[in-house]
Amino acid sequence: MKKFVYNFKEGNKDMKSLLGGKGANLAEMTNIGLNVPPGFTVTTEACIQYDEEGKTLWPQLLDEIFEKLAQLEDETGKTFGHGENPLLVSVRSGSVFSMPGMMDTILNLGLNDETVISLIKKSGNERFAYDSYRRFIQMFSDVAMGVSKSNFEHELEKMKHEKGCENDTDLDASDLKLLVERYKEIYKRELKTDFPQDTKEQLKLSLKAVFDSWNNPRAVIYRNLNEISHKLGTAVNIQSMVFGNMGDRSGTGVAFTRNPATGENKVFGEFLMNAQGEDVVAGIRTPLSIDELESIMPAVYNQFMKTTQILENHYRDMQDIEFTIEDEILYLLQTRTGKRTAKAAVNIAVDLVEEGKITKLESVGRIDPHMLEQLLHPSFDEKEVKNHELLAKGLPASPGAASGQIYFTADSAVEAKEKGISVILVRQETSPEDIAGMINSEGILTARGGMTSHAAVVARGMGKCCVAGCQDIRIDEHAKTMKVKDMVLTEGDVISLDGSTGGVYLGSIPKASTSLIENFEVFMQYVNDFKTMKVRANADNARDARKAIELGAEGIGLCRTEHMFFDEERILNVRKMIVAETLEEREAALKLLLPYQKQDFIEIYEVMKELPVTIRLLDPPLHEFLPNTDEDIKEVADSIGKTFDHLKDVVERLHEFNPMLGHRGCRLAVTYPEIYKMQVRAIIAAAIDMKKENIDVNPEIMIPLICAKSELVYIKTFLIEEINSVFEETGETVEYTIGTMIEVPRAAITADEIAEEAEFFSFGTNDLTQMGFGFSRDDSGKFLDDYTKKGILDYSPFETLDIAGIGKMVKMACTLGRETNPGIKLGICGEHGGDPKSIAFCQSVGLDYVSCSPFRVPIARLAAAQAAIDDGTVRDK
Ligand code: ADP
Ligand code: MG
Ligand code: MG
Repeated sequence: MKKFVYNFKEGNKDMKSLLGGKGANLAEMTNIGLNVPPGFTVTTEACIQYDEEGKTLWPQLLDEIFEKLAQLEDETGKTFGHGENPLLVSVRSGSVFSMPGMMDTILNLGLNDETVISLIKKSGNERFAYDSYRRFIQMFSDVAMGVSKSNFEHELEKMKHEKGCENDTDLDASDLKLLVERYKEIYKRELKTDFPQDTKEQLKLSLKAVFDSWNNPRAVIYRNLNEISHKLGTAVNIQSMVFGNMGDRSGTGVAFTRNPATGENKVFGEFLMNAQGEDVVAGIRTPLSIDELESIMPAVYNQFMKTTQILENHYRDMQDIEFTIEDEILYLLQTRTGKRTAKAAVNIAVDLVEEGKITKLESVGRIDPHMLEQLLHPSFDEKEVKNHELLAKGLPASPGAASGQIYFTADSAVEAKEKGISVILVRQETSPEDIAGMINSEGILTARGGMTSHAAVVARGMGKCCVAGCQDIRIDEHAKTMKVKDMVLTEGDVISLDGSTGGVYLGSIPKASTSLIENFEVFMQYVNDFKTMKVRANADNARDARKAIELGAEGIGLCRTEHMFFDEERILNVRKMIVAETLEEREAALKLLLPYQKQDFIEIYEVMKELPVTIRLLDPPLHEFLPNTDEDIKEVADSIGKTFDHLKDVVERLHEFNPMLGHRGCRLAVTYPEIYKMQVRAIIAAAIDMKKENIDVNPEIMIPLICAKSELVYIKTFLIEEINSVFEETGETVEYTIGTMIEVPRAAITADEIAEEAEFFSFGTNDLTQMGFGFSRDDSGKFLDDYTKKGILDYSPFETLDIAGIGKMVKMACTLGRETNPGIKLGICGEHGGDPKSIAFCQSVGLDYVSCSPFRVPIARLAAAQAAIDDGTVRDK
């Protein structure tokens, strides 16, 4: 017969799935000799079976429970529901994962009108007995029977008011006795039946309530949100009571074995004298710091300090402990791994390694890569956030926190910044022309666009806070207003952005202090010991490249050349090139751009030195370059000696219905080879300059948007010709490679053919996702939410790689590519390159590197190390 009930002595910490986290740890603490009030755990399997039995407690289960209860009576020398020394218990739920929304704990169960009298006699403390009874009636009614606790709290307040006292500790025995009577009346009034005097009945009803709470709506929503299975069930712990409310030699508290905010190796905790259960967290009275226990009860304090050490050494991690002191005897009621800030997490991980308590490998596994974001970006002071109105919520596009005055155009942002103003740039959406405005802003807010919109991608690259796709705001760029809720904000008004949550707040919010802690570098060294994939960064200029190196990047995986073209000094020549109607005109414009391009690459090479730099040849949808306003058209027309009308006509002809699928990427070079020729000339000439300074740089020339081998061959041929002529002209040669992005589905499918001509593949998973799903990146914000809300997709495929579909294409392309070109280098440069789950996938298909925005490099490094550890590629050193 299956066993459904375990005495604490029968369990251990590894039995979490059966006993729940709380039960497994109560068992573990019991068995390592700590002072835990005896008790037993009803298993999670019983909870599941309870559902299958039509939500009834079946006889065999009840037999087992009451048999264990009888043993508990023997163990404690107390009797349940009668006798001179009554046994009281707590009923505590505890699932495998701690879960808010589940049932609360019931304390002091076993009290009735008879046992309360015995408790008075036994303890000689009438006040304590009635205090316990009134607590029990309230908790049982609220938690097990659904009578709102406000009924009782109201009565308690009334009583305090009548007595003219402030704290519940000021109420005396007769007050509490009267309160018990009033509480029983409330019970009867609300439930039309008397408060149960049968203690077995109390226990059964409580047990059912815990089991039922597994399926209460809050718990179900929480599990859905956190992808926790509904089949796990919750365990129920039934434990003999100890009393922190027995008087001035008793108390209750919570403590962390190290400081959870800073990681400092010093016990951090709070306690209350003469209190029970959740009084400390409920804020009924102001608790004392654990340090003060030393003067109140030195012996208990010393014992407690020793116990924290025992627990931490045993669990080999910082613990979060709940304890009670009854008449100067210390009891442990719970222990679990303590939650902590990112700063504390890193400090504790490194300290534990240095104290010899855990290995480096273990320390690497202990930190959630996402947590590092907290360390890399500023954040608001949490206490301050509460004082500011939340105006709207957008997408958390680029982490960080920023406050400043709003400006609606890039130019006005730049001007304001020059006056020393902190700027928040507010745009419908951004385009490459807003770059200067973005650089000069503290943060960026857009009304449209998703996680891979221009604003999001560029802001992440800059490490700048950005909230994108904030649908709740209406922006009028001409009127320079932003409508949100029933407010109209105008230029100069102050708002704050939280790029980690997507929150937009009114006013300026002070920031919490940030500085990379010393241990961060130490920890990242551990990370490097284990990761096998390289981590590169996406960087388009020397500034980003330097940041990338600083954060540990091992190369550039994507240098986008179009951003370089948008520089104010060049845009005119770029436009001339685009609207050129003859080869001569175009070549003339390109000739003017060449020196700039070469200088761009020299600057990047100077930072990256021998490290690989993947340079993607031009890939913007054409419309992004076109002169838009009449003013711009006129400027271009004048400078090339054409009429306004003529040029306007040219621009209109260049208009595309679907620019994302239009004349972009290598297609541009099929029509106008001279553009890419100029770019490779700049890449190679810059490399030759570096060689003269004895630096052998490593350019990897990457062709975007390839869909067929023949297309690649066509382009490669003229690129190589051009490169060879640079070699001839200069009498120098340099090493380089030519490869392609795999971002069009057809390229993934014909990767074996393409690999014959490519020295590397870099998966452009943004486009591959866009084209694979047929979801426009720029428009999907409008409907993707519905897909995740309605459970059609588990997550946005633009944030985490869709492993089942897009991932399958990536995997297939890797296999096919290696078939015809075994030495082919494989990487990823889409936004997914910085996402931990996607990185684990990259490891599994054997990519050589991932590439992500500079500020995500540490996150990617950690995720890569964890992926290598998890798949068994590396072992402990
Ligand atoms: P939660 O999961 O919400 O922390 P617990 O089951 O840990 O709920 O119970 C909350 C508090 O109730 C504990 O921290 C402890 O102070 C008190 N408590 C629980 N069981 C007992 C007990 N057997 N004796 C004394 N206090 C108890
Ligand atoms: Mg607890
Ligand atoms: Mg692309």
